[in-house]
Amino acid sequence: MSLEHYIDNQWQASSWAEDIPVQDPSTGISYARIARGTAEDIDLAVQAAQRALGDNFDGPWGCLSALERGRLLARLSHAVLEHHEELAQIEARDTGKALKVARADATALARYFEYYAGAADKLHGETLPYQAGYTVLTVREPHGVTGHIIPWNYPMQIFGRSVGAALAAGNACVVKPAEDASLSLLRLAELAAQVGFPAGSLNVVSGYGHEAGAALCAHPGVAHISFTGSTGTGALVAKAAAERHCPVTLELGGKSPQIVFADADVERALPVLINAIVQNCGQTCSAGSRLLVQRSLYEPLLERLAQCFGQLRAGPSELDLDMGPLINQKQLRQVREFVREAEAAGIRVAARGQVVAEAGSGGYFHEAVLFRDVPPDSRLAREEVFGPVLAVMPFEDEAEAIGLANDSAFGLVAGVWTRDGARQLRMAHKLRCGQVFINNYGAGGGVELPFGGVKASGYGREKGFEALLGFTALKTIAIRHD
Ligand code: NAD
Repeated sequence: MSLEHYIDNQWQASSWAEDIPVQDPSTGISYARIARGTAEDIDLAVQAAQRALGDNFDGPWGCLSALERGRLLARLSHAVLEHHEELAQIEARDTGKALKVARADATALARYFEYYAGAADKLHGETLPYQAGYTVLTVREPHGVTGHIIPWNYPMQIFGRSVGAALAAGNACVVKPAEDASLSLLRLAELAAQVGFPAGSLNVVSGYGHEAGAALCAHPGVAHISFTGSTGTGALVAKAAAERHCPVTLELGGKSPQIVFADADVERALPVLINAIVQNCGQTCSAGSRLLVQRSLYEPLLERLAQCFGQLRAGPSELDLDMGPLINQKQLRQVREFVREAEAAGIRVAARGQVVAEAGSGGYFHEAVLFRDVPPDSRLAREEVFGPVLAVMPFEDEAEAIGLANDSAFGLVAGVWTRDGARQLRMAHKLRCGQVFINNYGAGGGVELPFGGVKASGYGREKGFEALLGFTALKTIAIRHD
């Protein structure tokens, strides 16, 4: 199988003969090829998107009412549900994620389109009180052509939240998937065309970040960039966009703390604490990768965690175990290096899971690892491993917990486990991050809940109604009528 770009509602050969092999992370074997997009391909896609919008929002996409855009998104949501298993299988093979995770991603994708379908015609401006003799109102207009740079960890979900909101707000989209995981998004562009999205309203150009991705950020026809990925690349994207005054939304990952007080409901917390770090093999921006436990609960909780970690199994995605492989060799090397360095520094391993015998030697498997008494100043406590590695450390009281939690370059998500209501609120207010979960973590995905970070975790908000606002430019109209 060899896939081209999807531009203007058709498969479009790349301007360059070079392509990119698609590997199955469970085996390391290539089974398909994708096009290696260039600046020329990006330009074609941007031009198609501009035609869809029209010079004055009078093109076949630009002229649609919010109601019509919403109806198309609803049809796309239904199409995703009809192709649910196909999409999940594509995603599981392409990324190595366990099938149950890929199926949950396909369900979430349909839900994003459903949510933004319903929201499209509820996005409106306001009238503002002003001086006598004036009527002042605001209108929310689409930016125009929006660029979407998607990572490999949750391609369908991140596409859903970013492209779903942008389309609902009336933008036309050019998407650059990650070179390691493009297949599901190419298929989605085809599905969008089949349900009736006008040509050019949604285009997908595959390729490498430094080529197609950089060209998208630099293209003068792109009016907004939404980026999810690493902190370093996020800075490059923001710089390139700043050169031409293009607004950017950055979602850059984290080192999110879960804070467990001695009065916590441990039975409820335990499976959530584990899932938050092993889901998707730890390759989740909001992974709960630091676990802070109050001293009197520290040893008993560690003992329970160690028992559970010892039973965690990693294997090929089709076996649908606790974890699949990591995405690629580079990621496997990175996780191994973190573990090796921590052990060399004398940080103790409390438990390790296992890689099952069925996992071949060509796959990128890594067992889950539980580290205890992790020094807060160690790399393991401060940097994003992006693998199934949990760093546990004790704290004495609330003040110390807040200090440890906030002592991070990142600020994406935090979890707090306590039965004390006043403490729940104090913690929620003092934690420096974009989302706080009390006695839960992630709220089961929460399509409706605005998501994004502070500090090195980025800026701007995805998900929920808030994302729609980010995909619009506010215009103020002041009418004098005295
Ligand atoms: P990355 O940030 O380099 O890639 C993310 C996306 O950006 C991909 O589509 C890539 O092609 C594109 N890209 C790369 N360079 C670009 C450039 N110069 N201009 C425009 N787009 C560009 O991430 P990676 O190298 O694939 O993974 C490295 C690390 O990133 C991981 O170890 C992990 O820590 C982090 N990461 C975070 C997330 C997240 O959800 N926050 C997702 C994936 C990776």
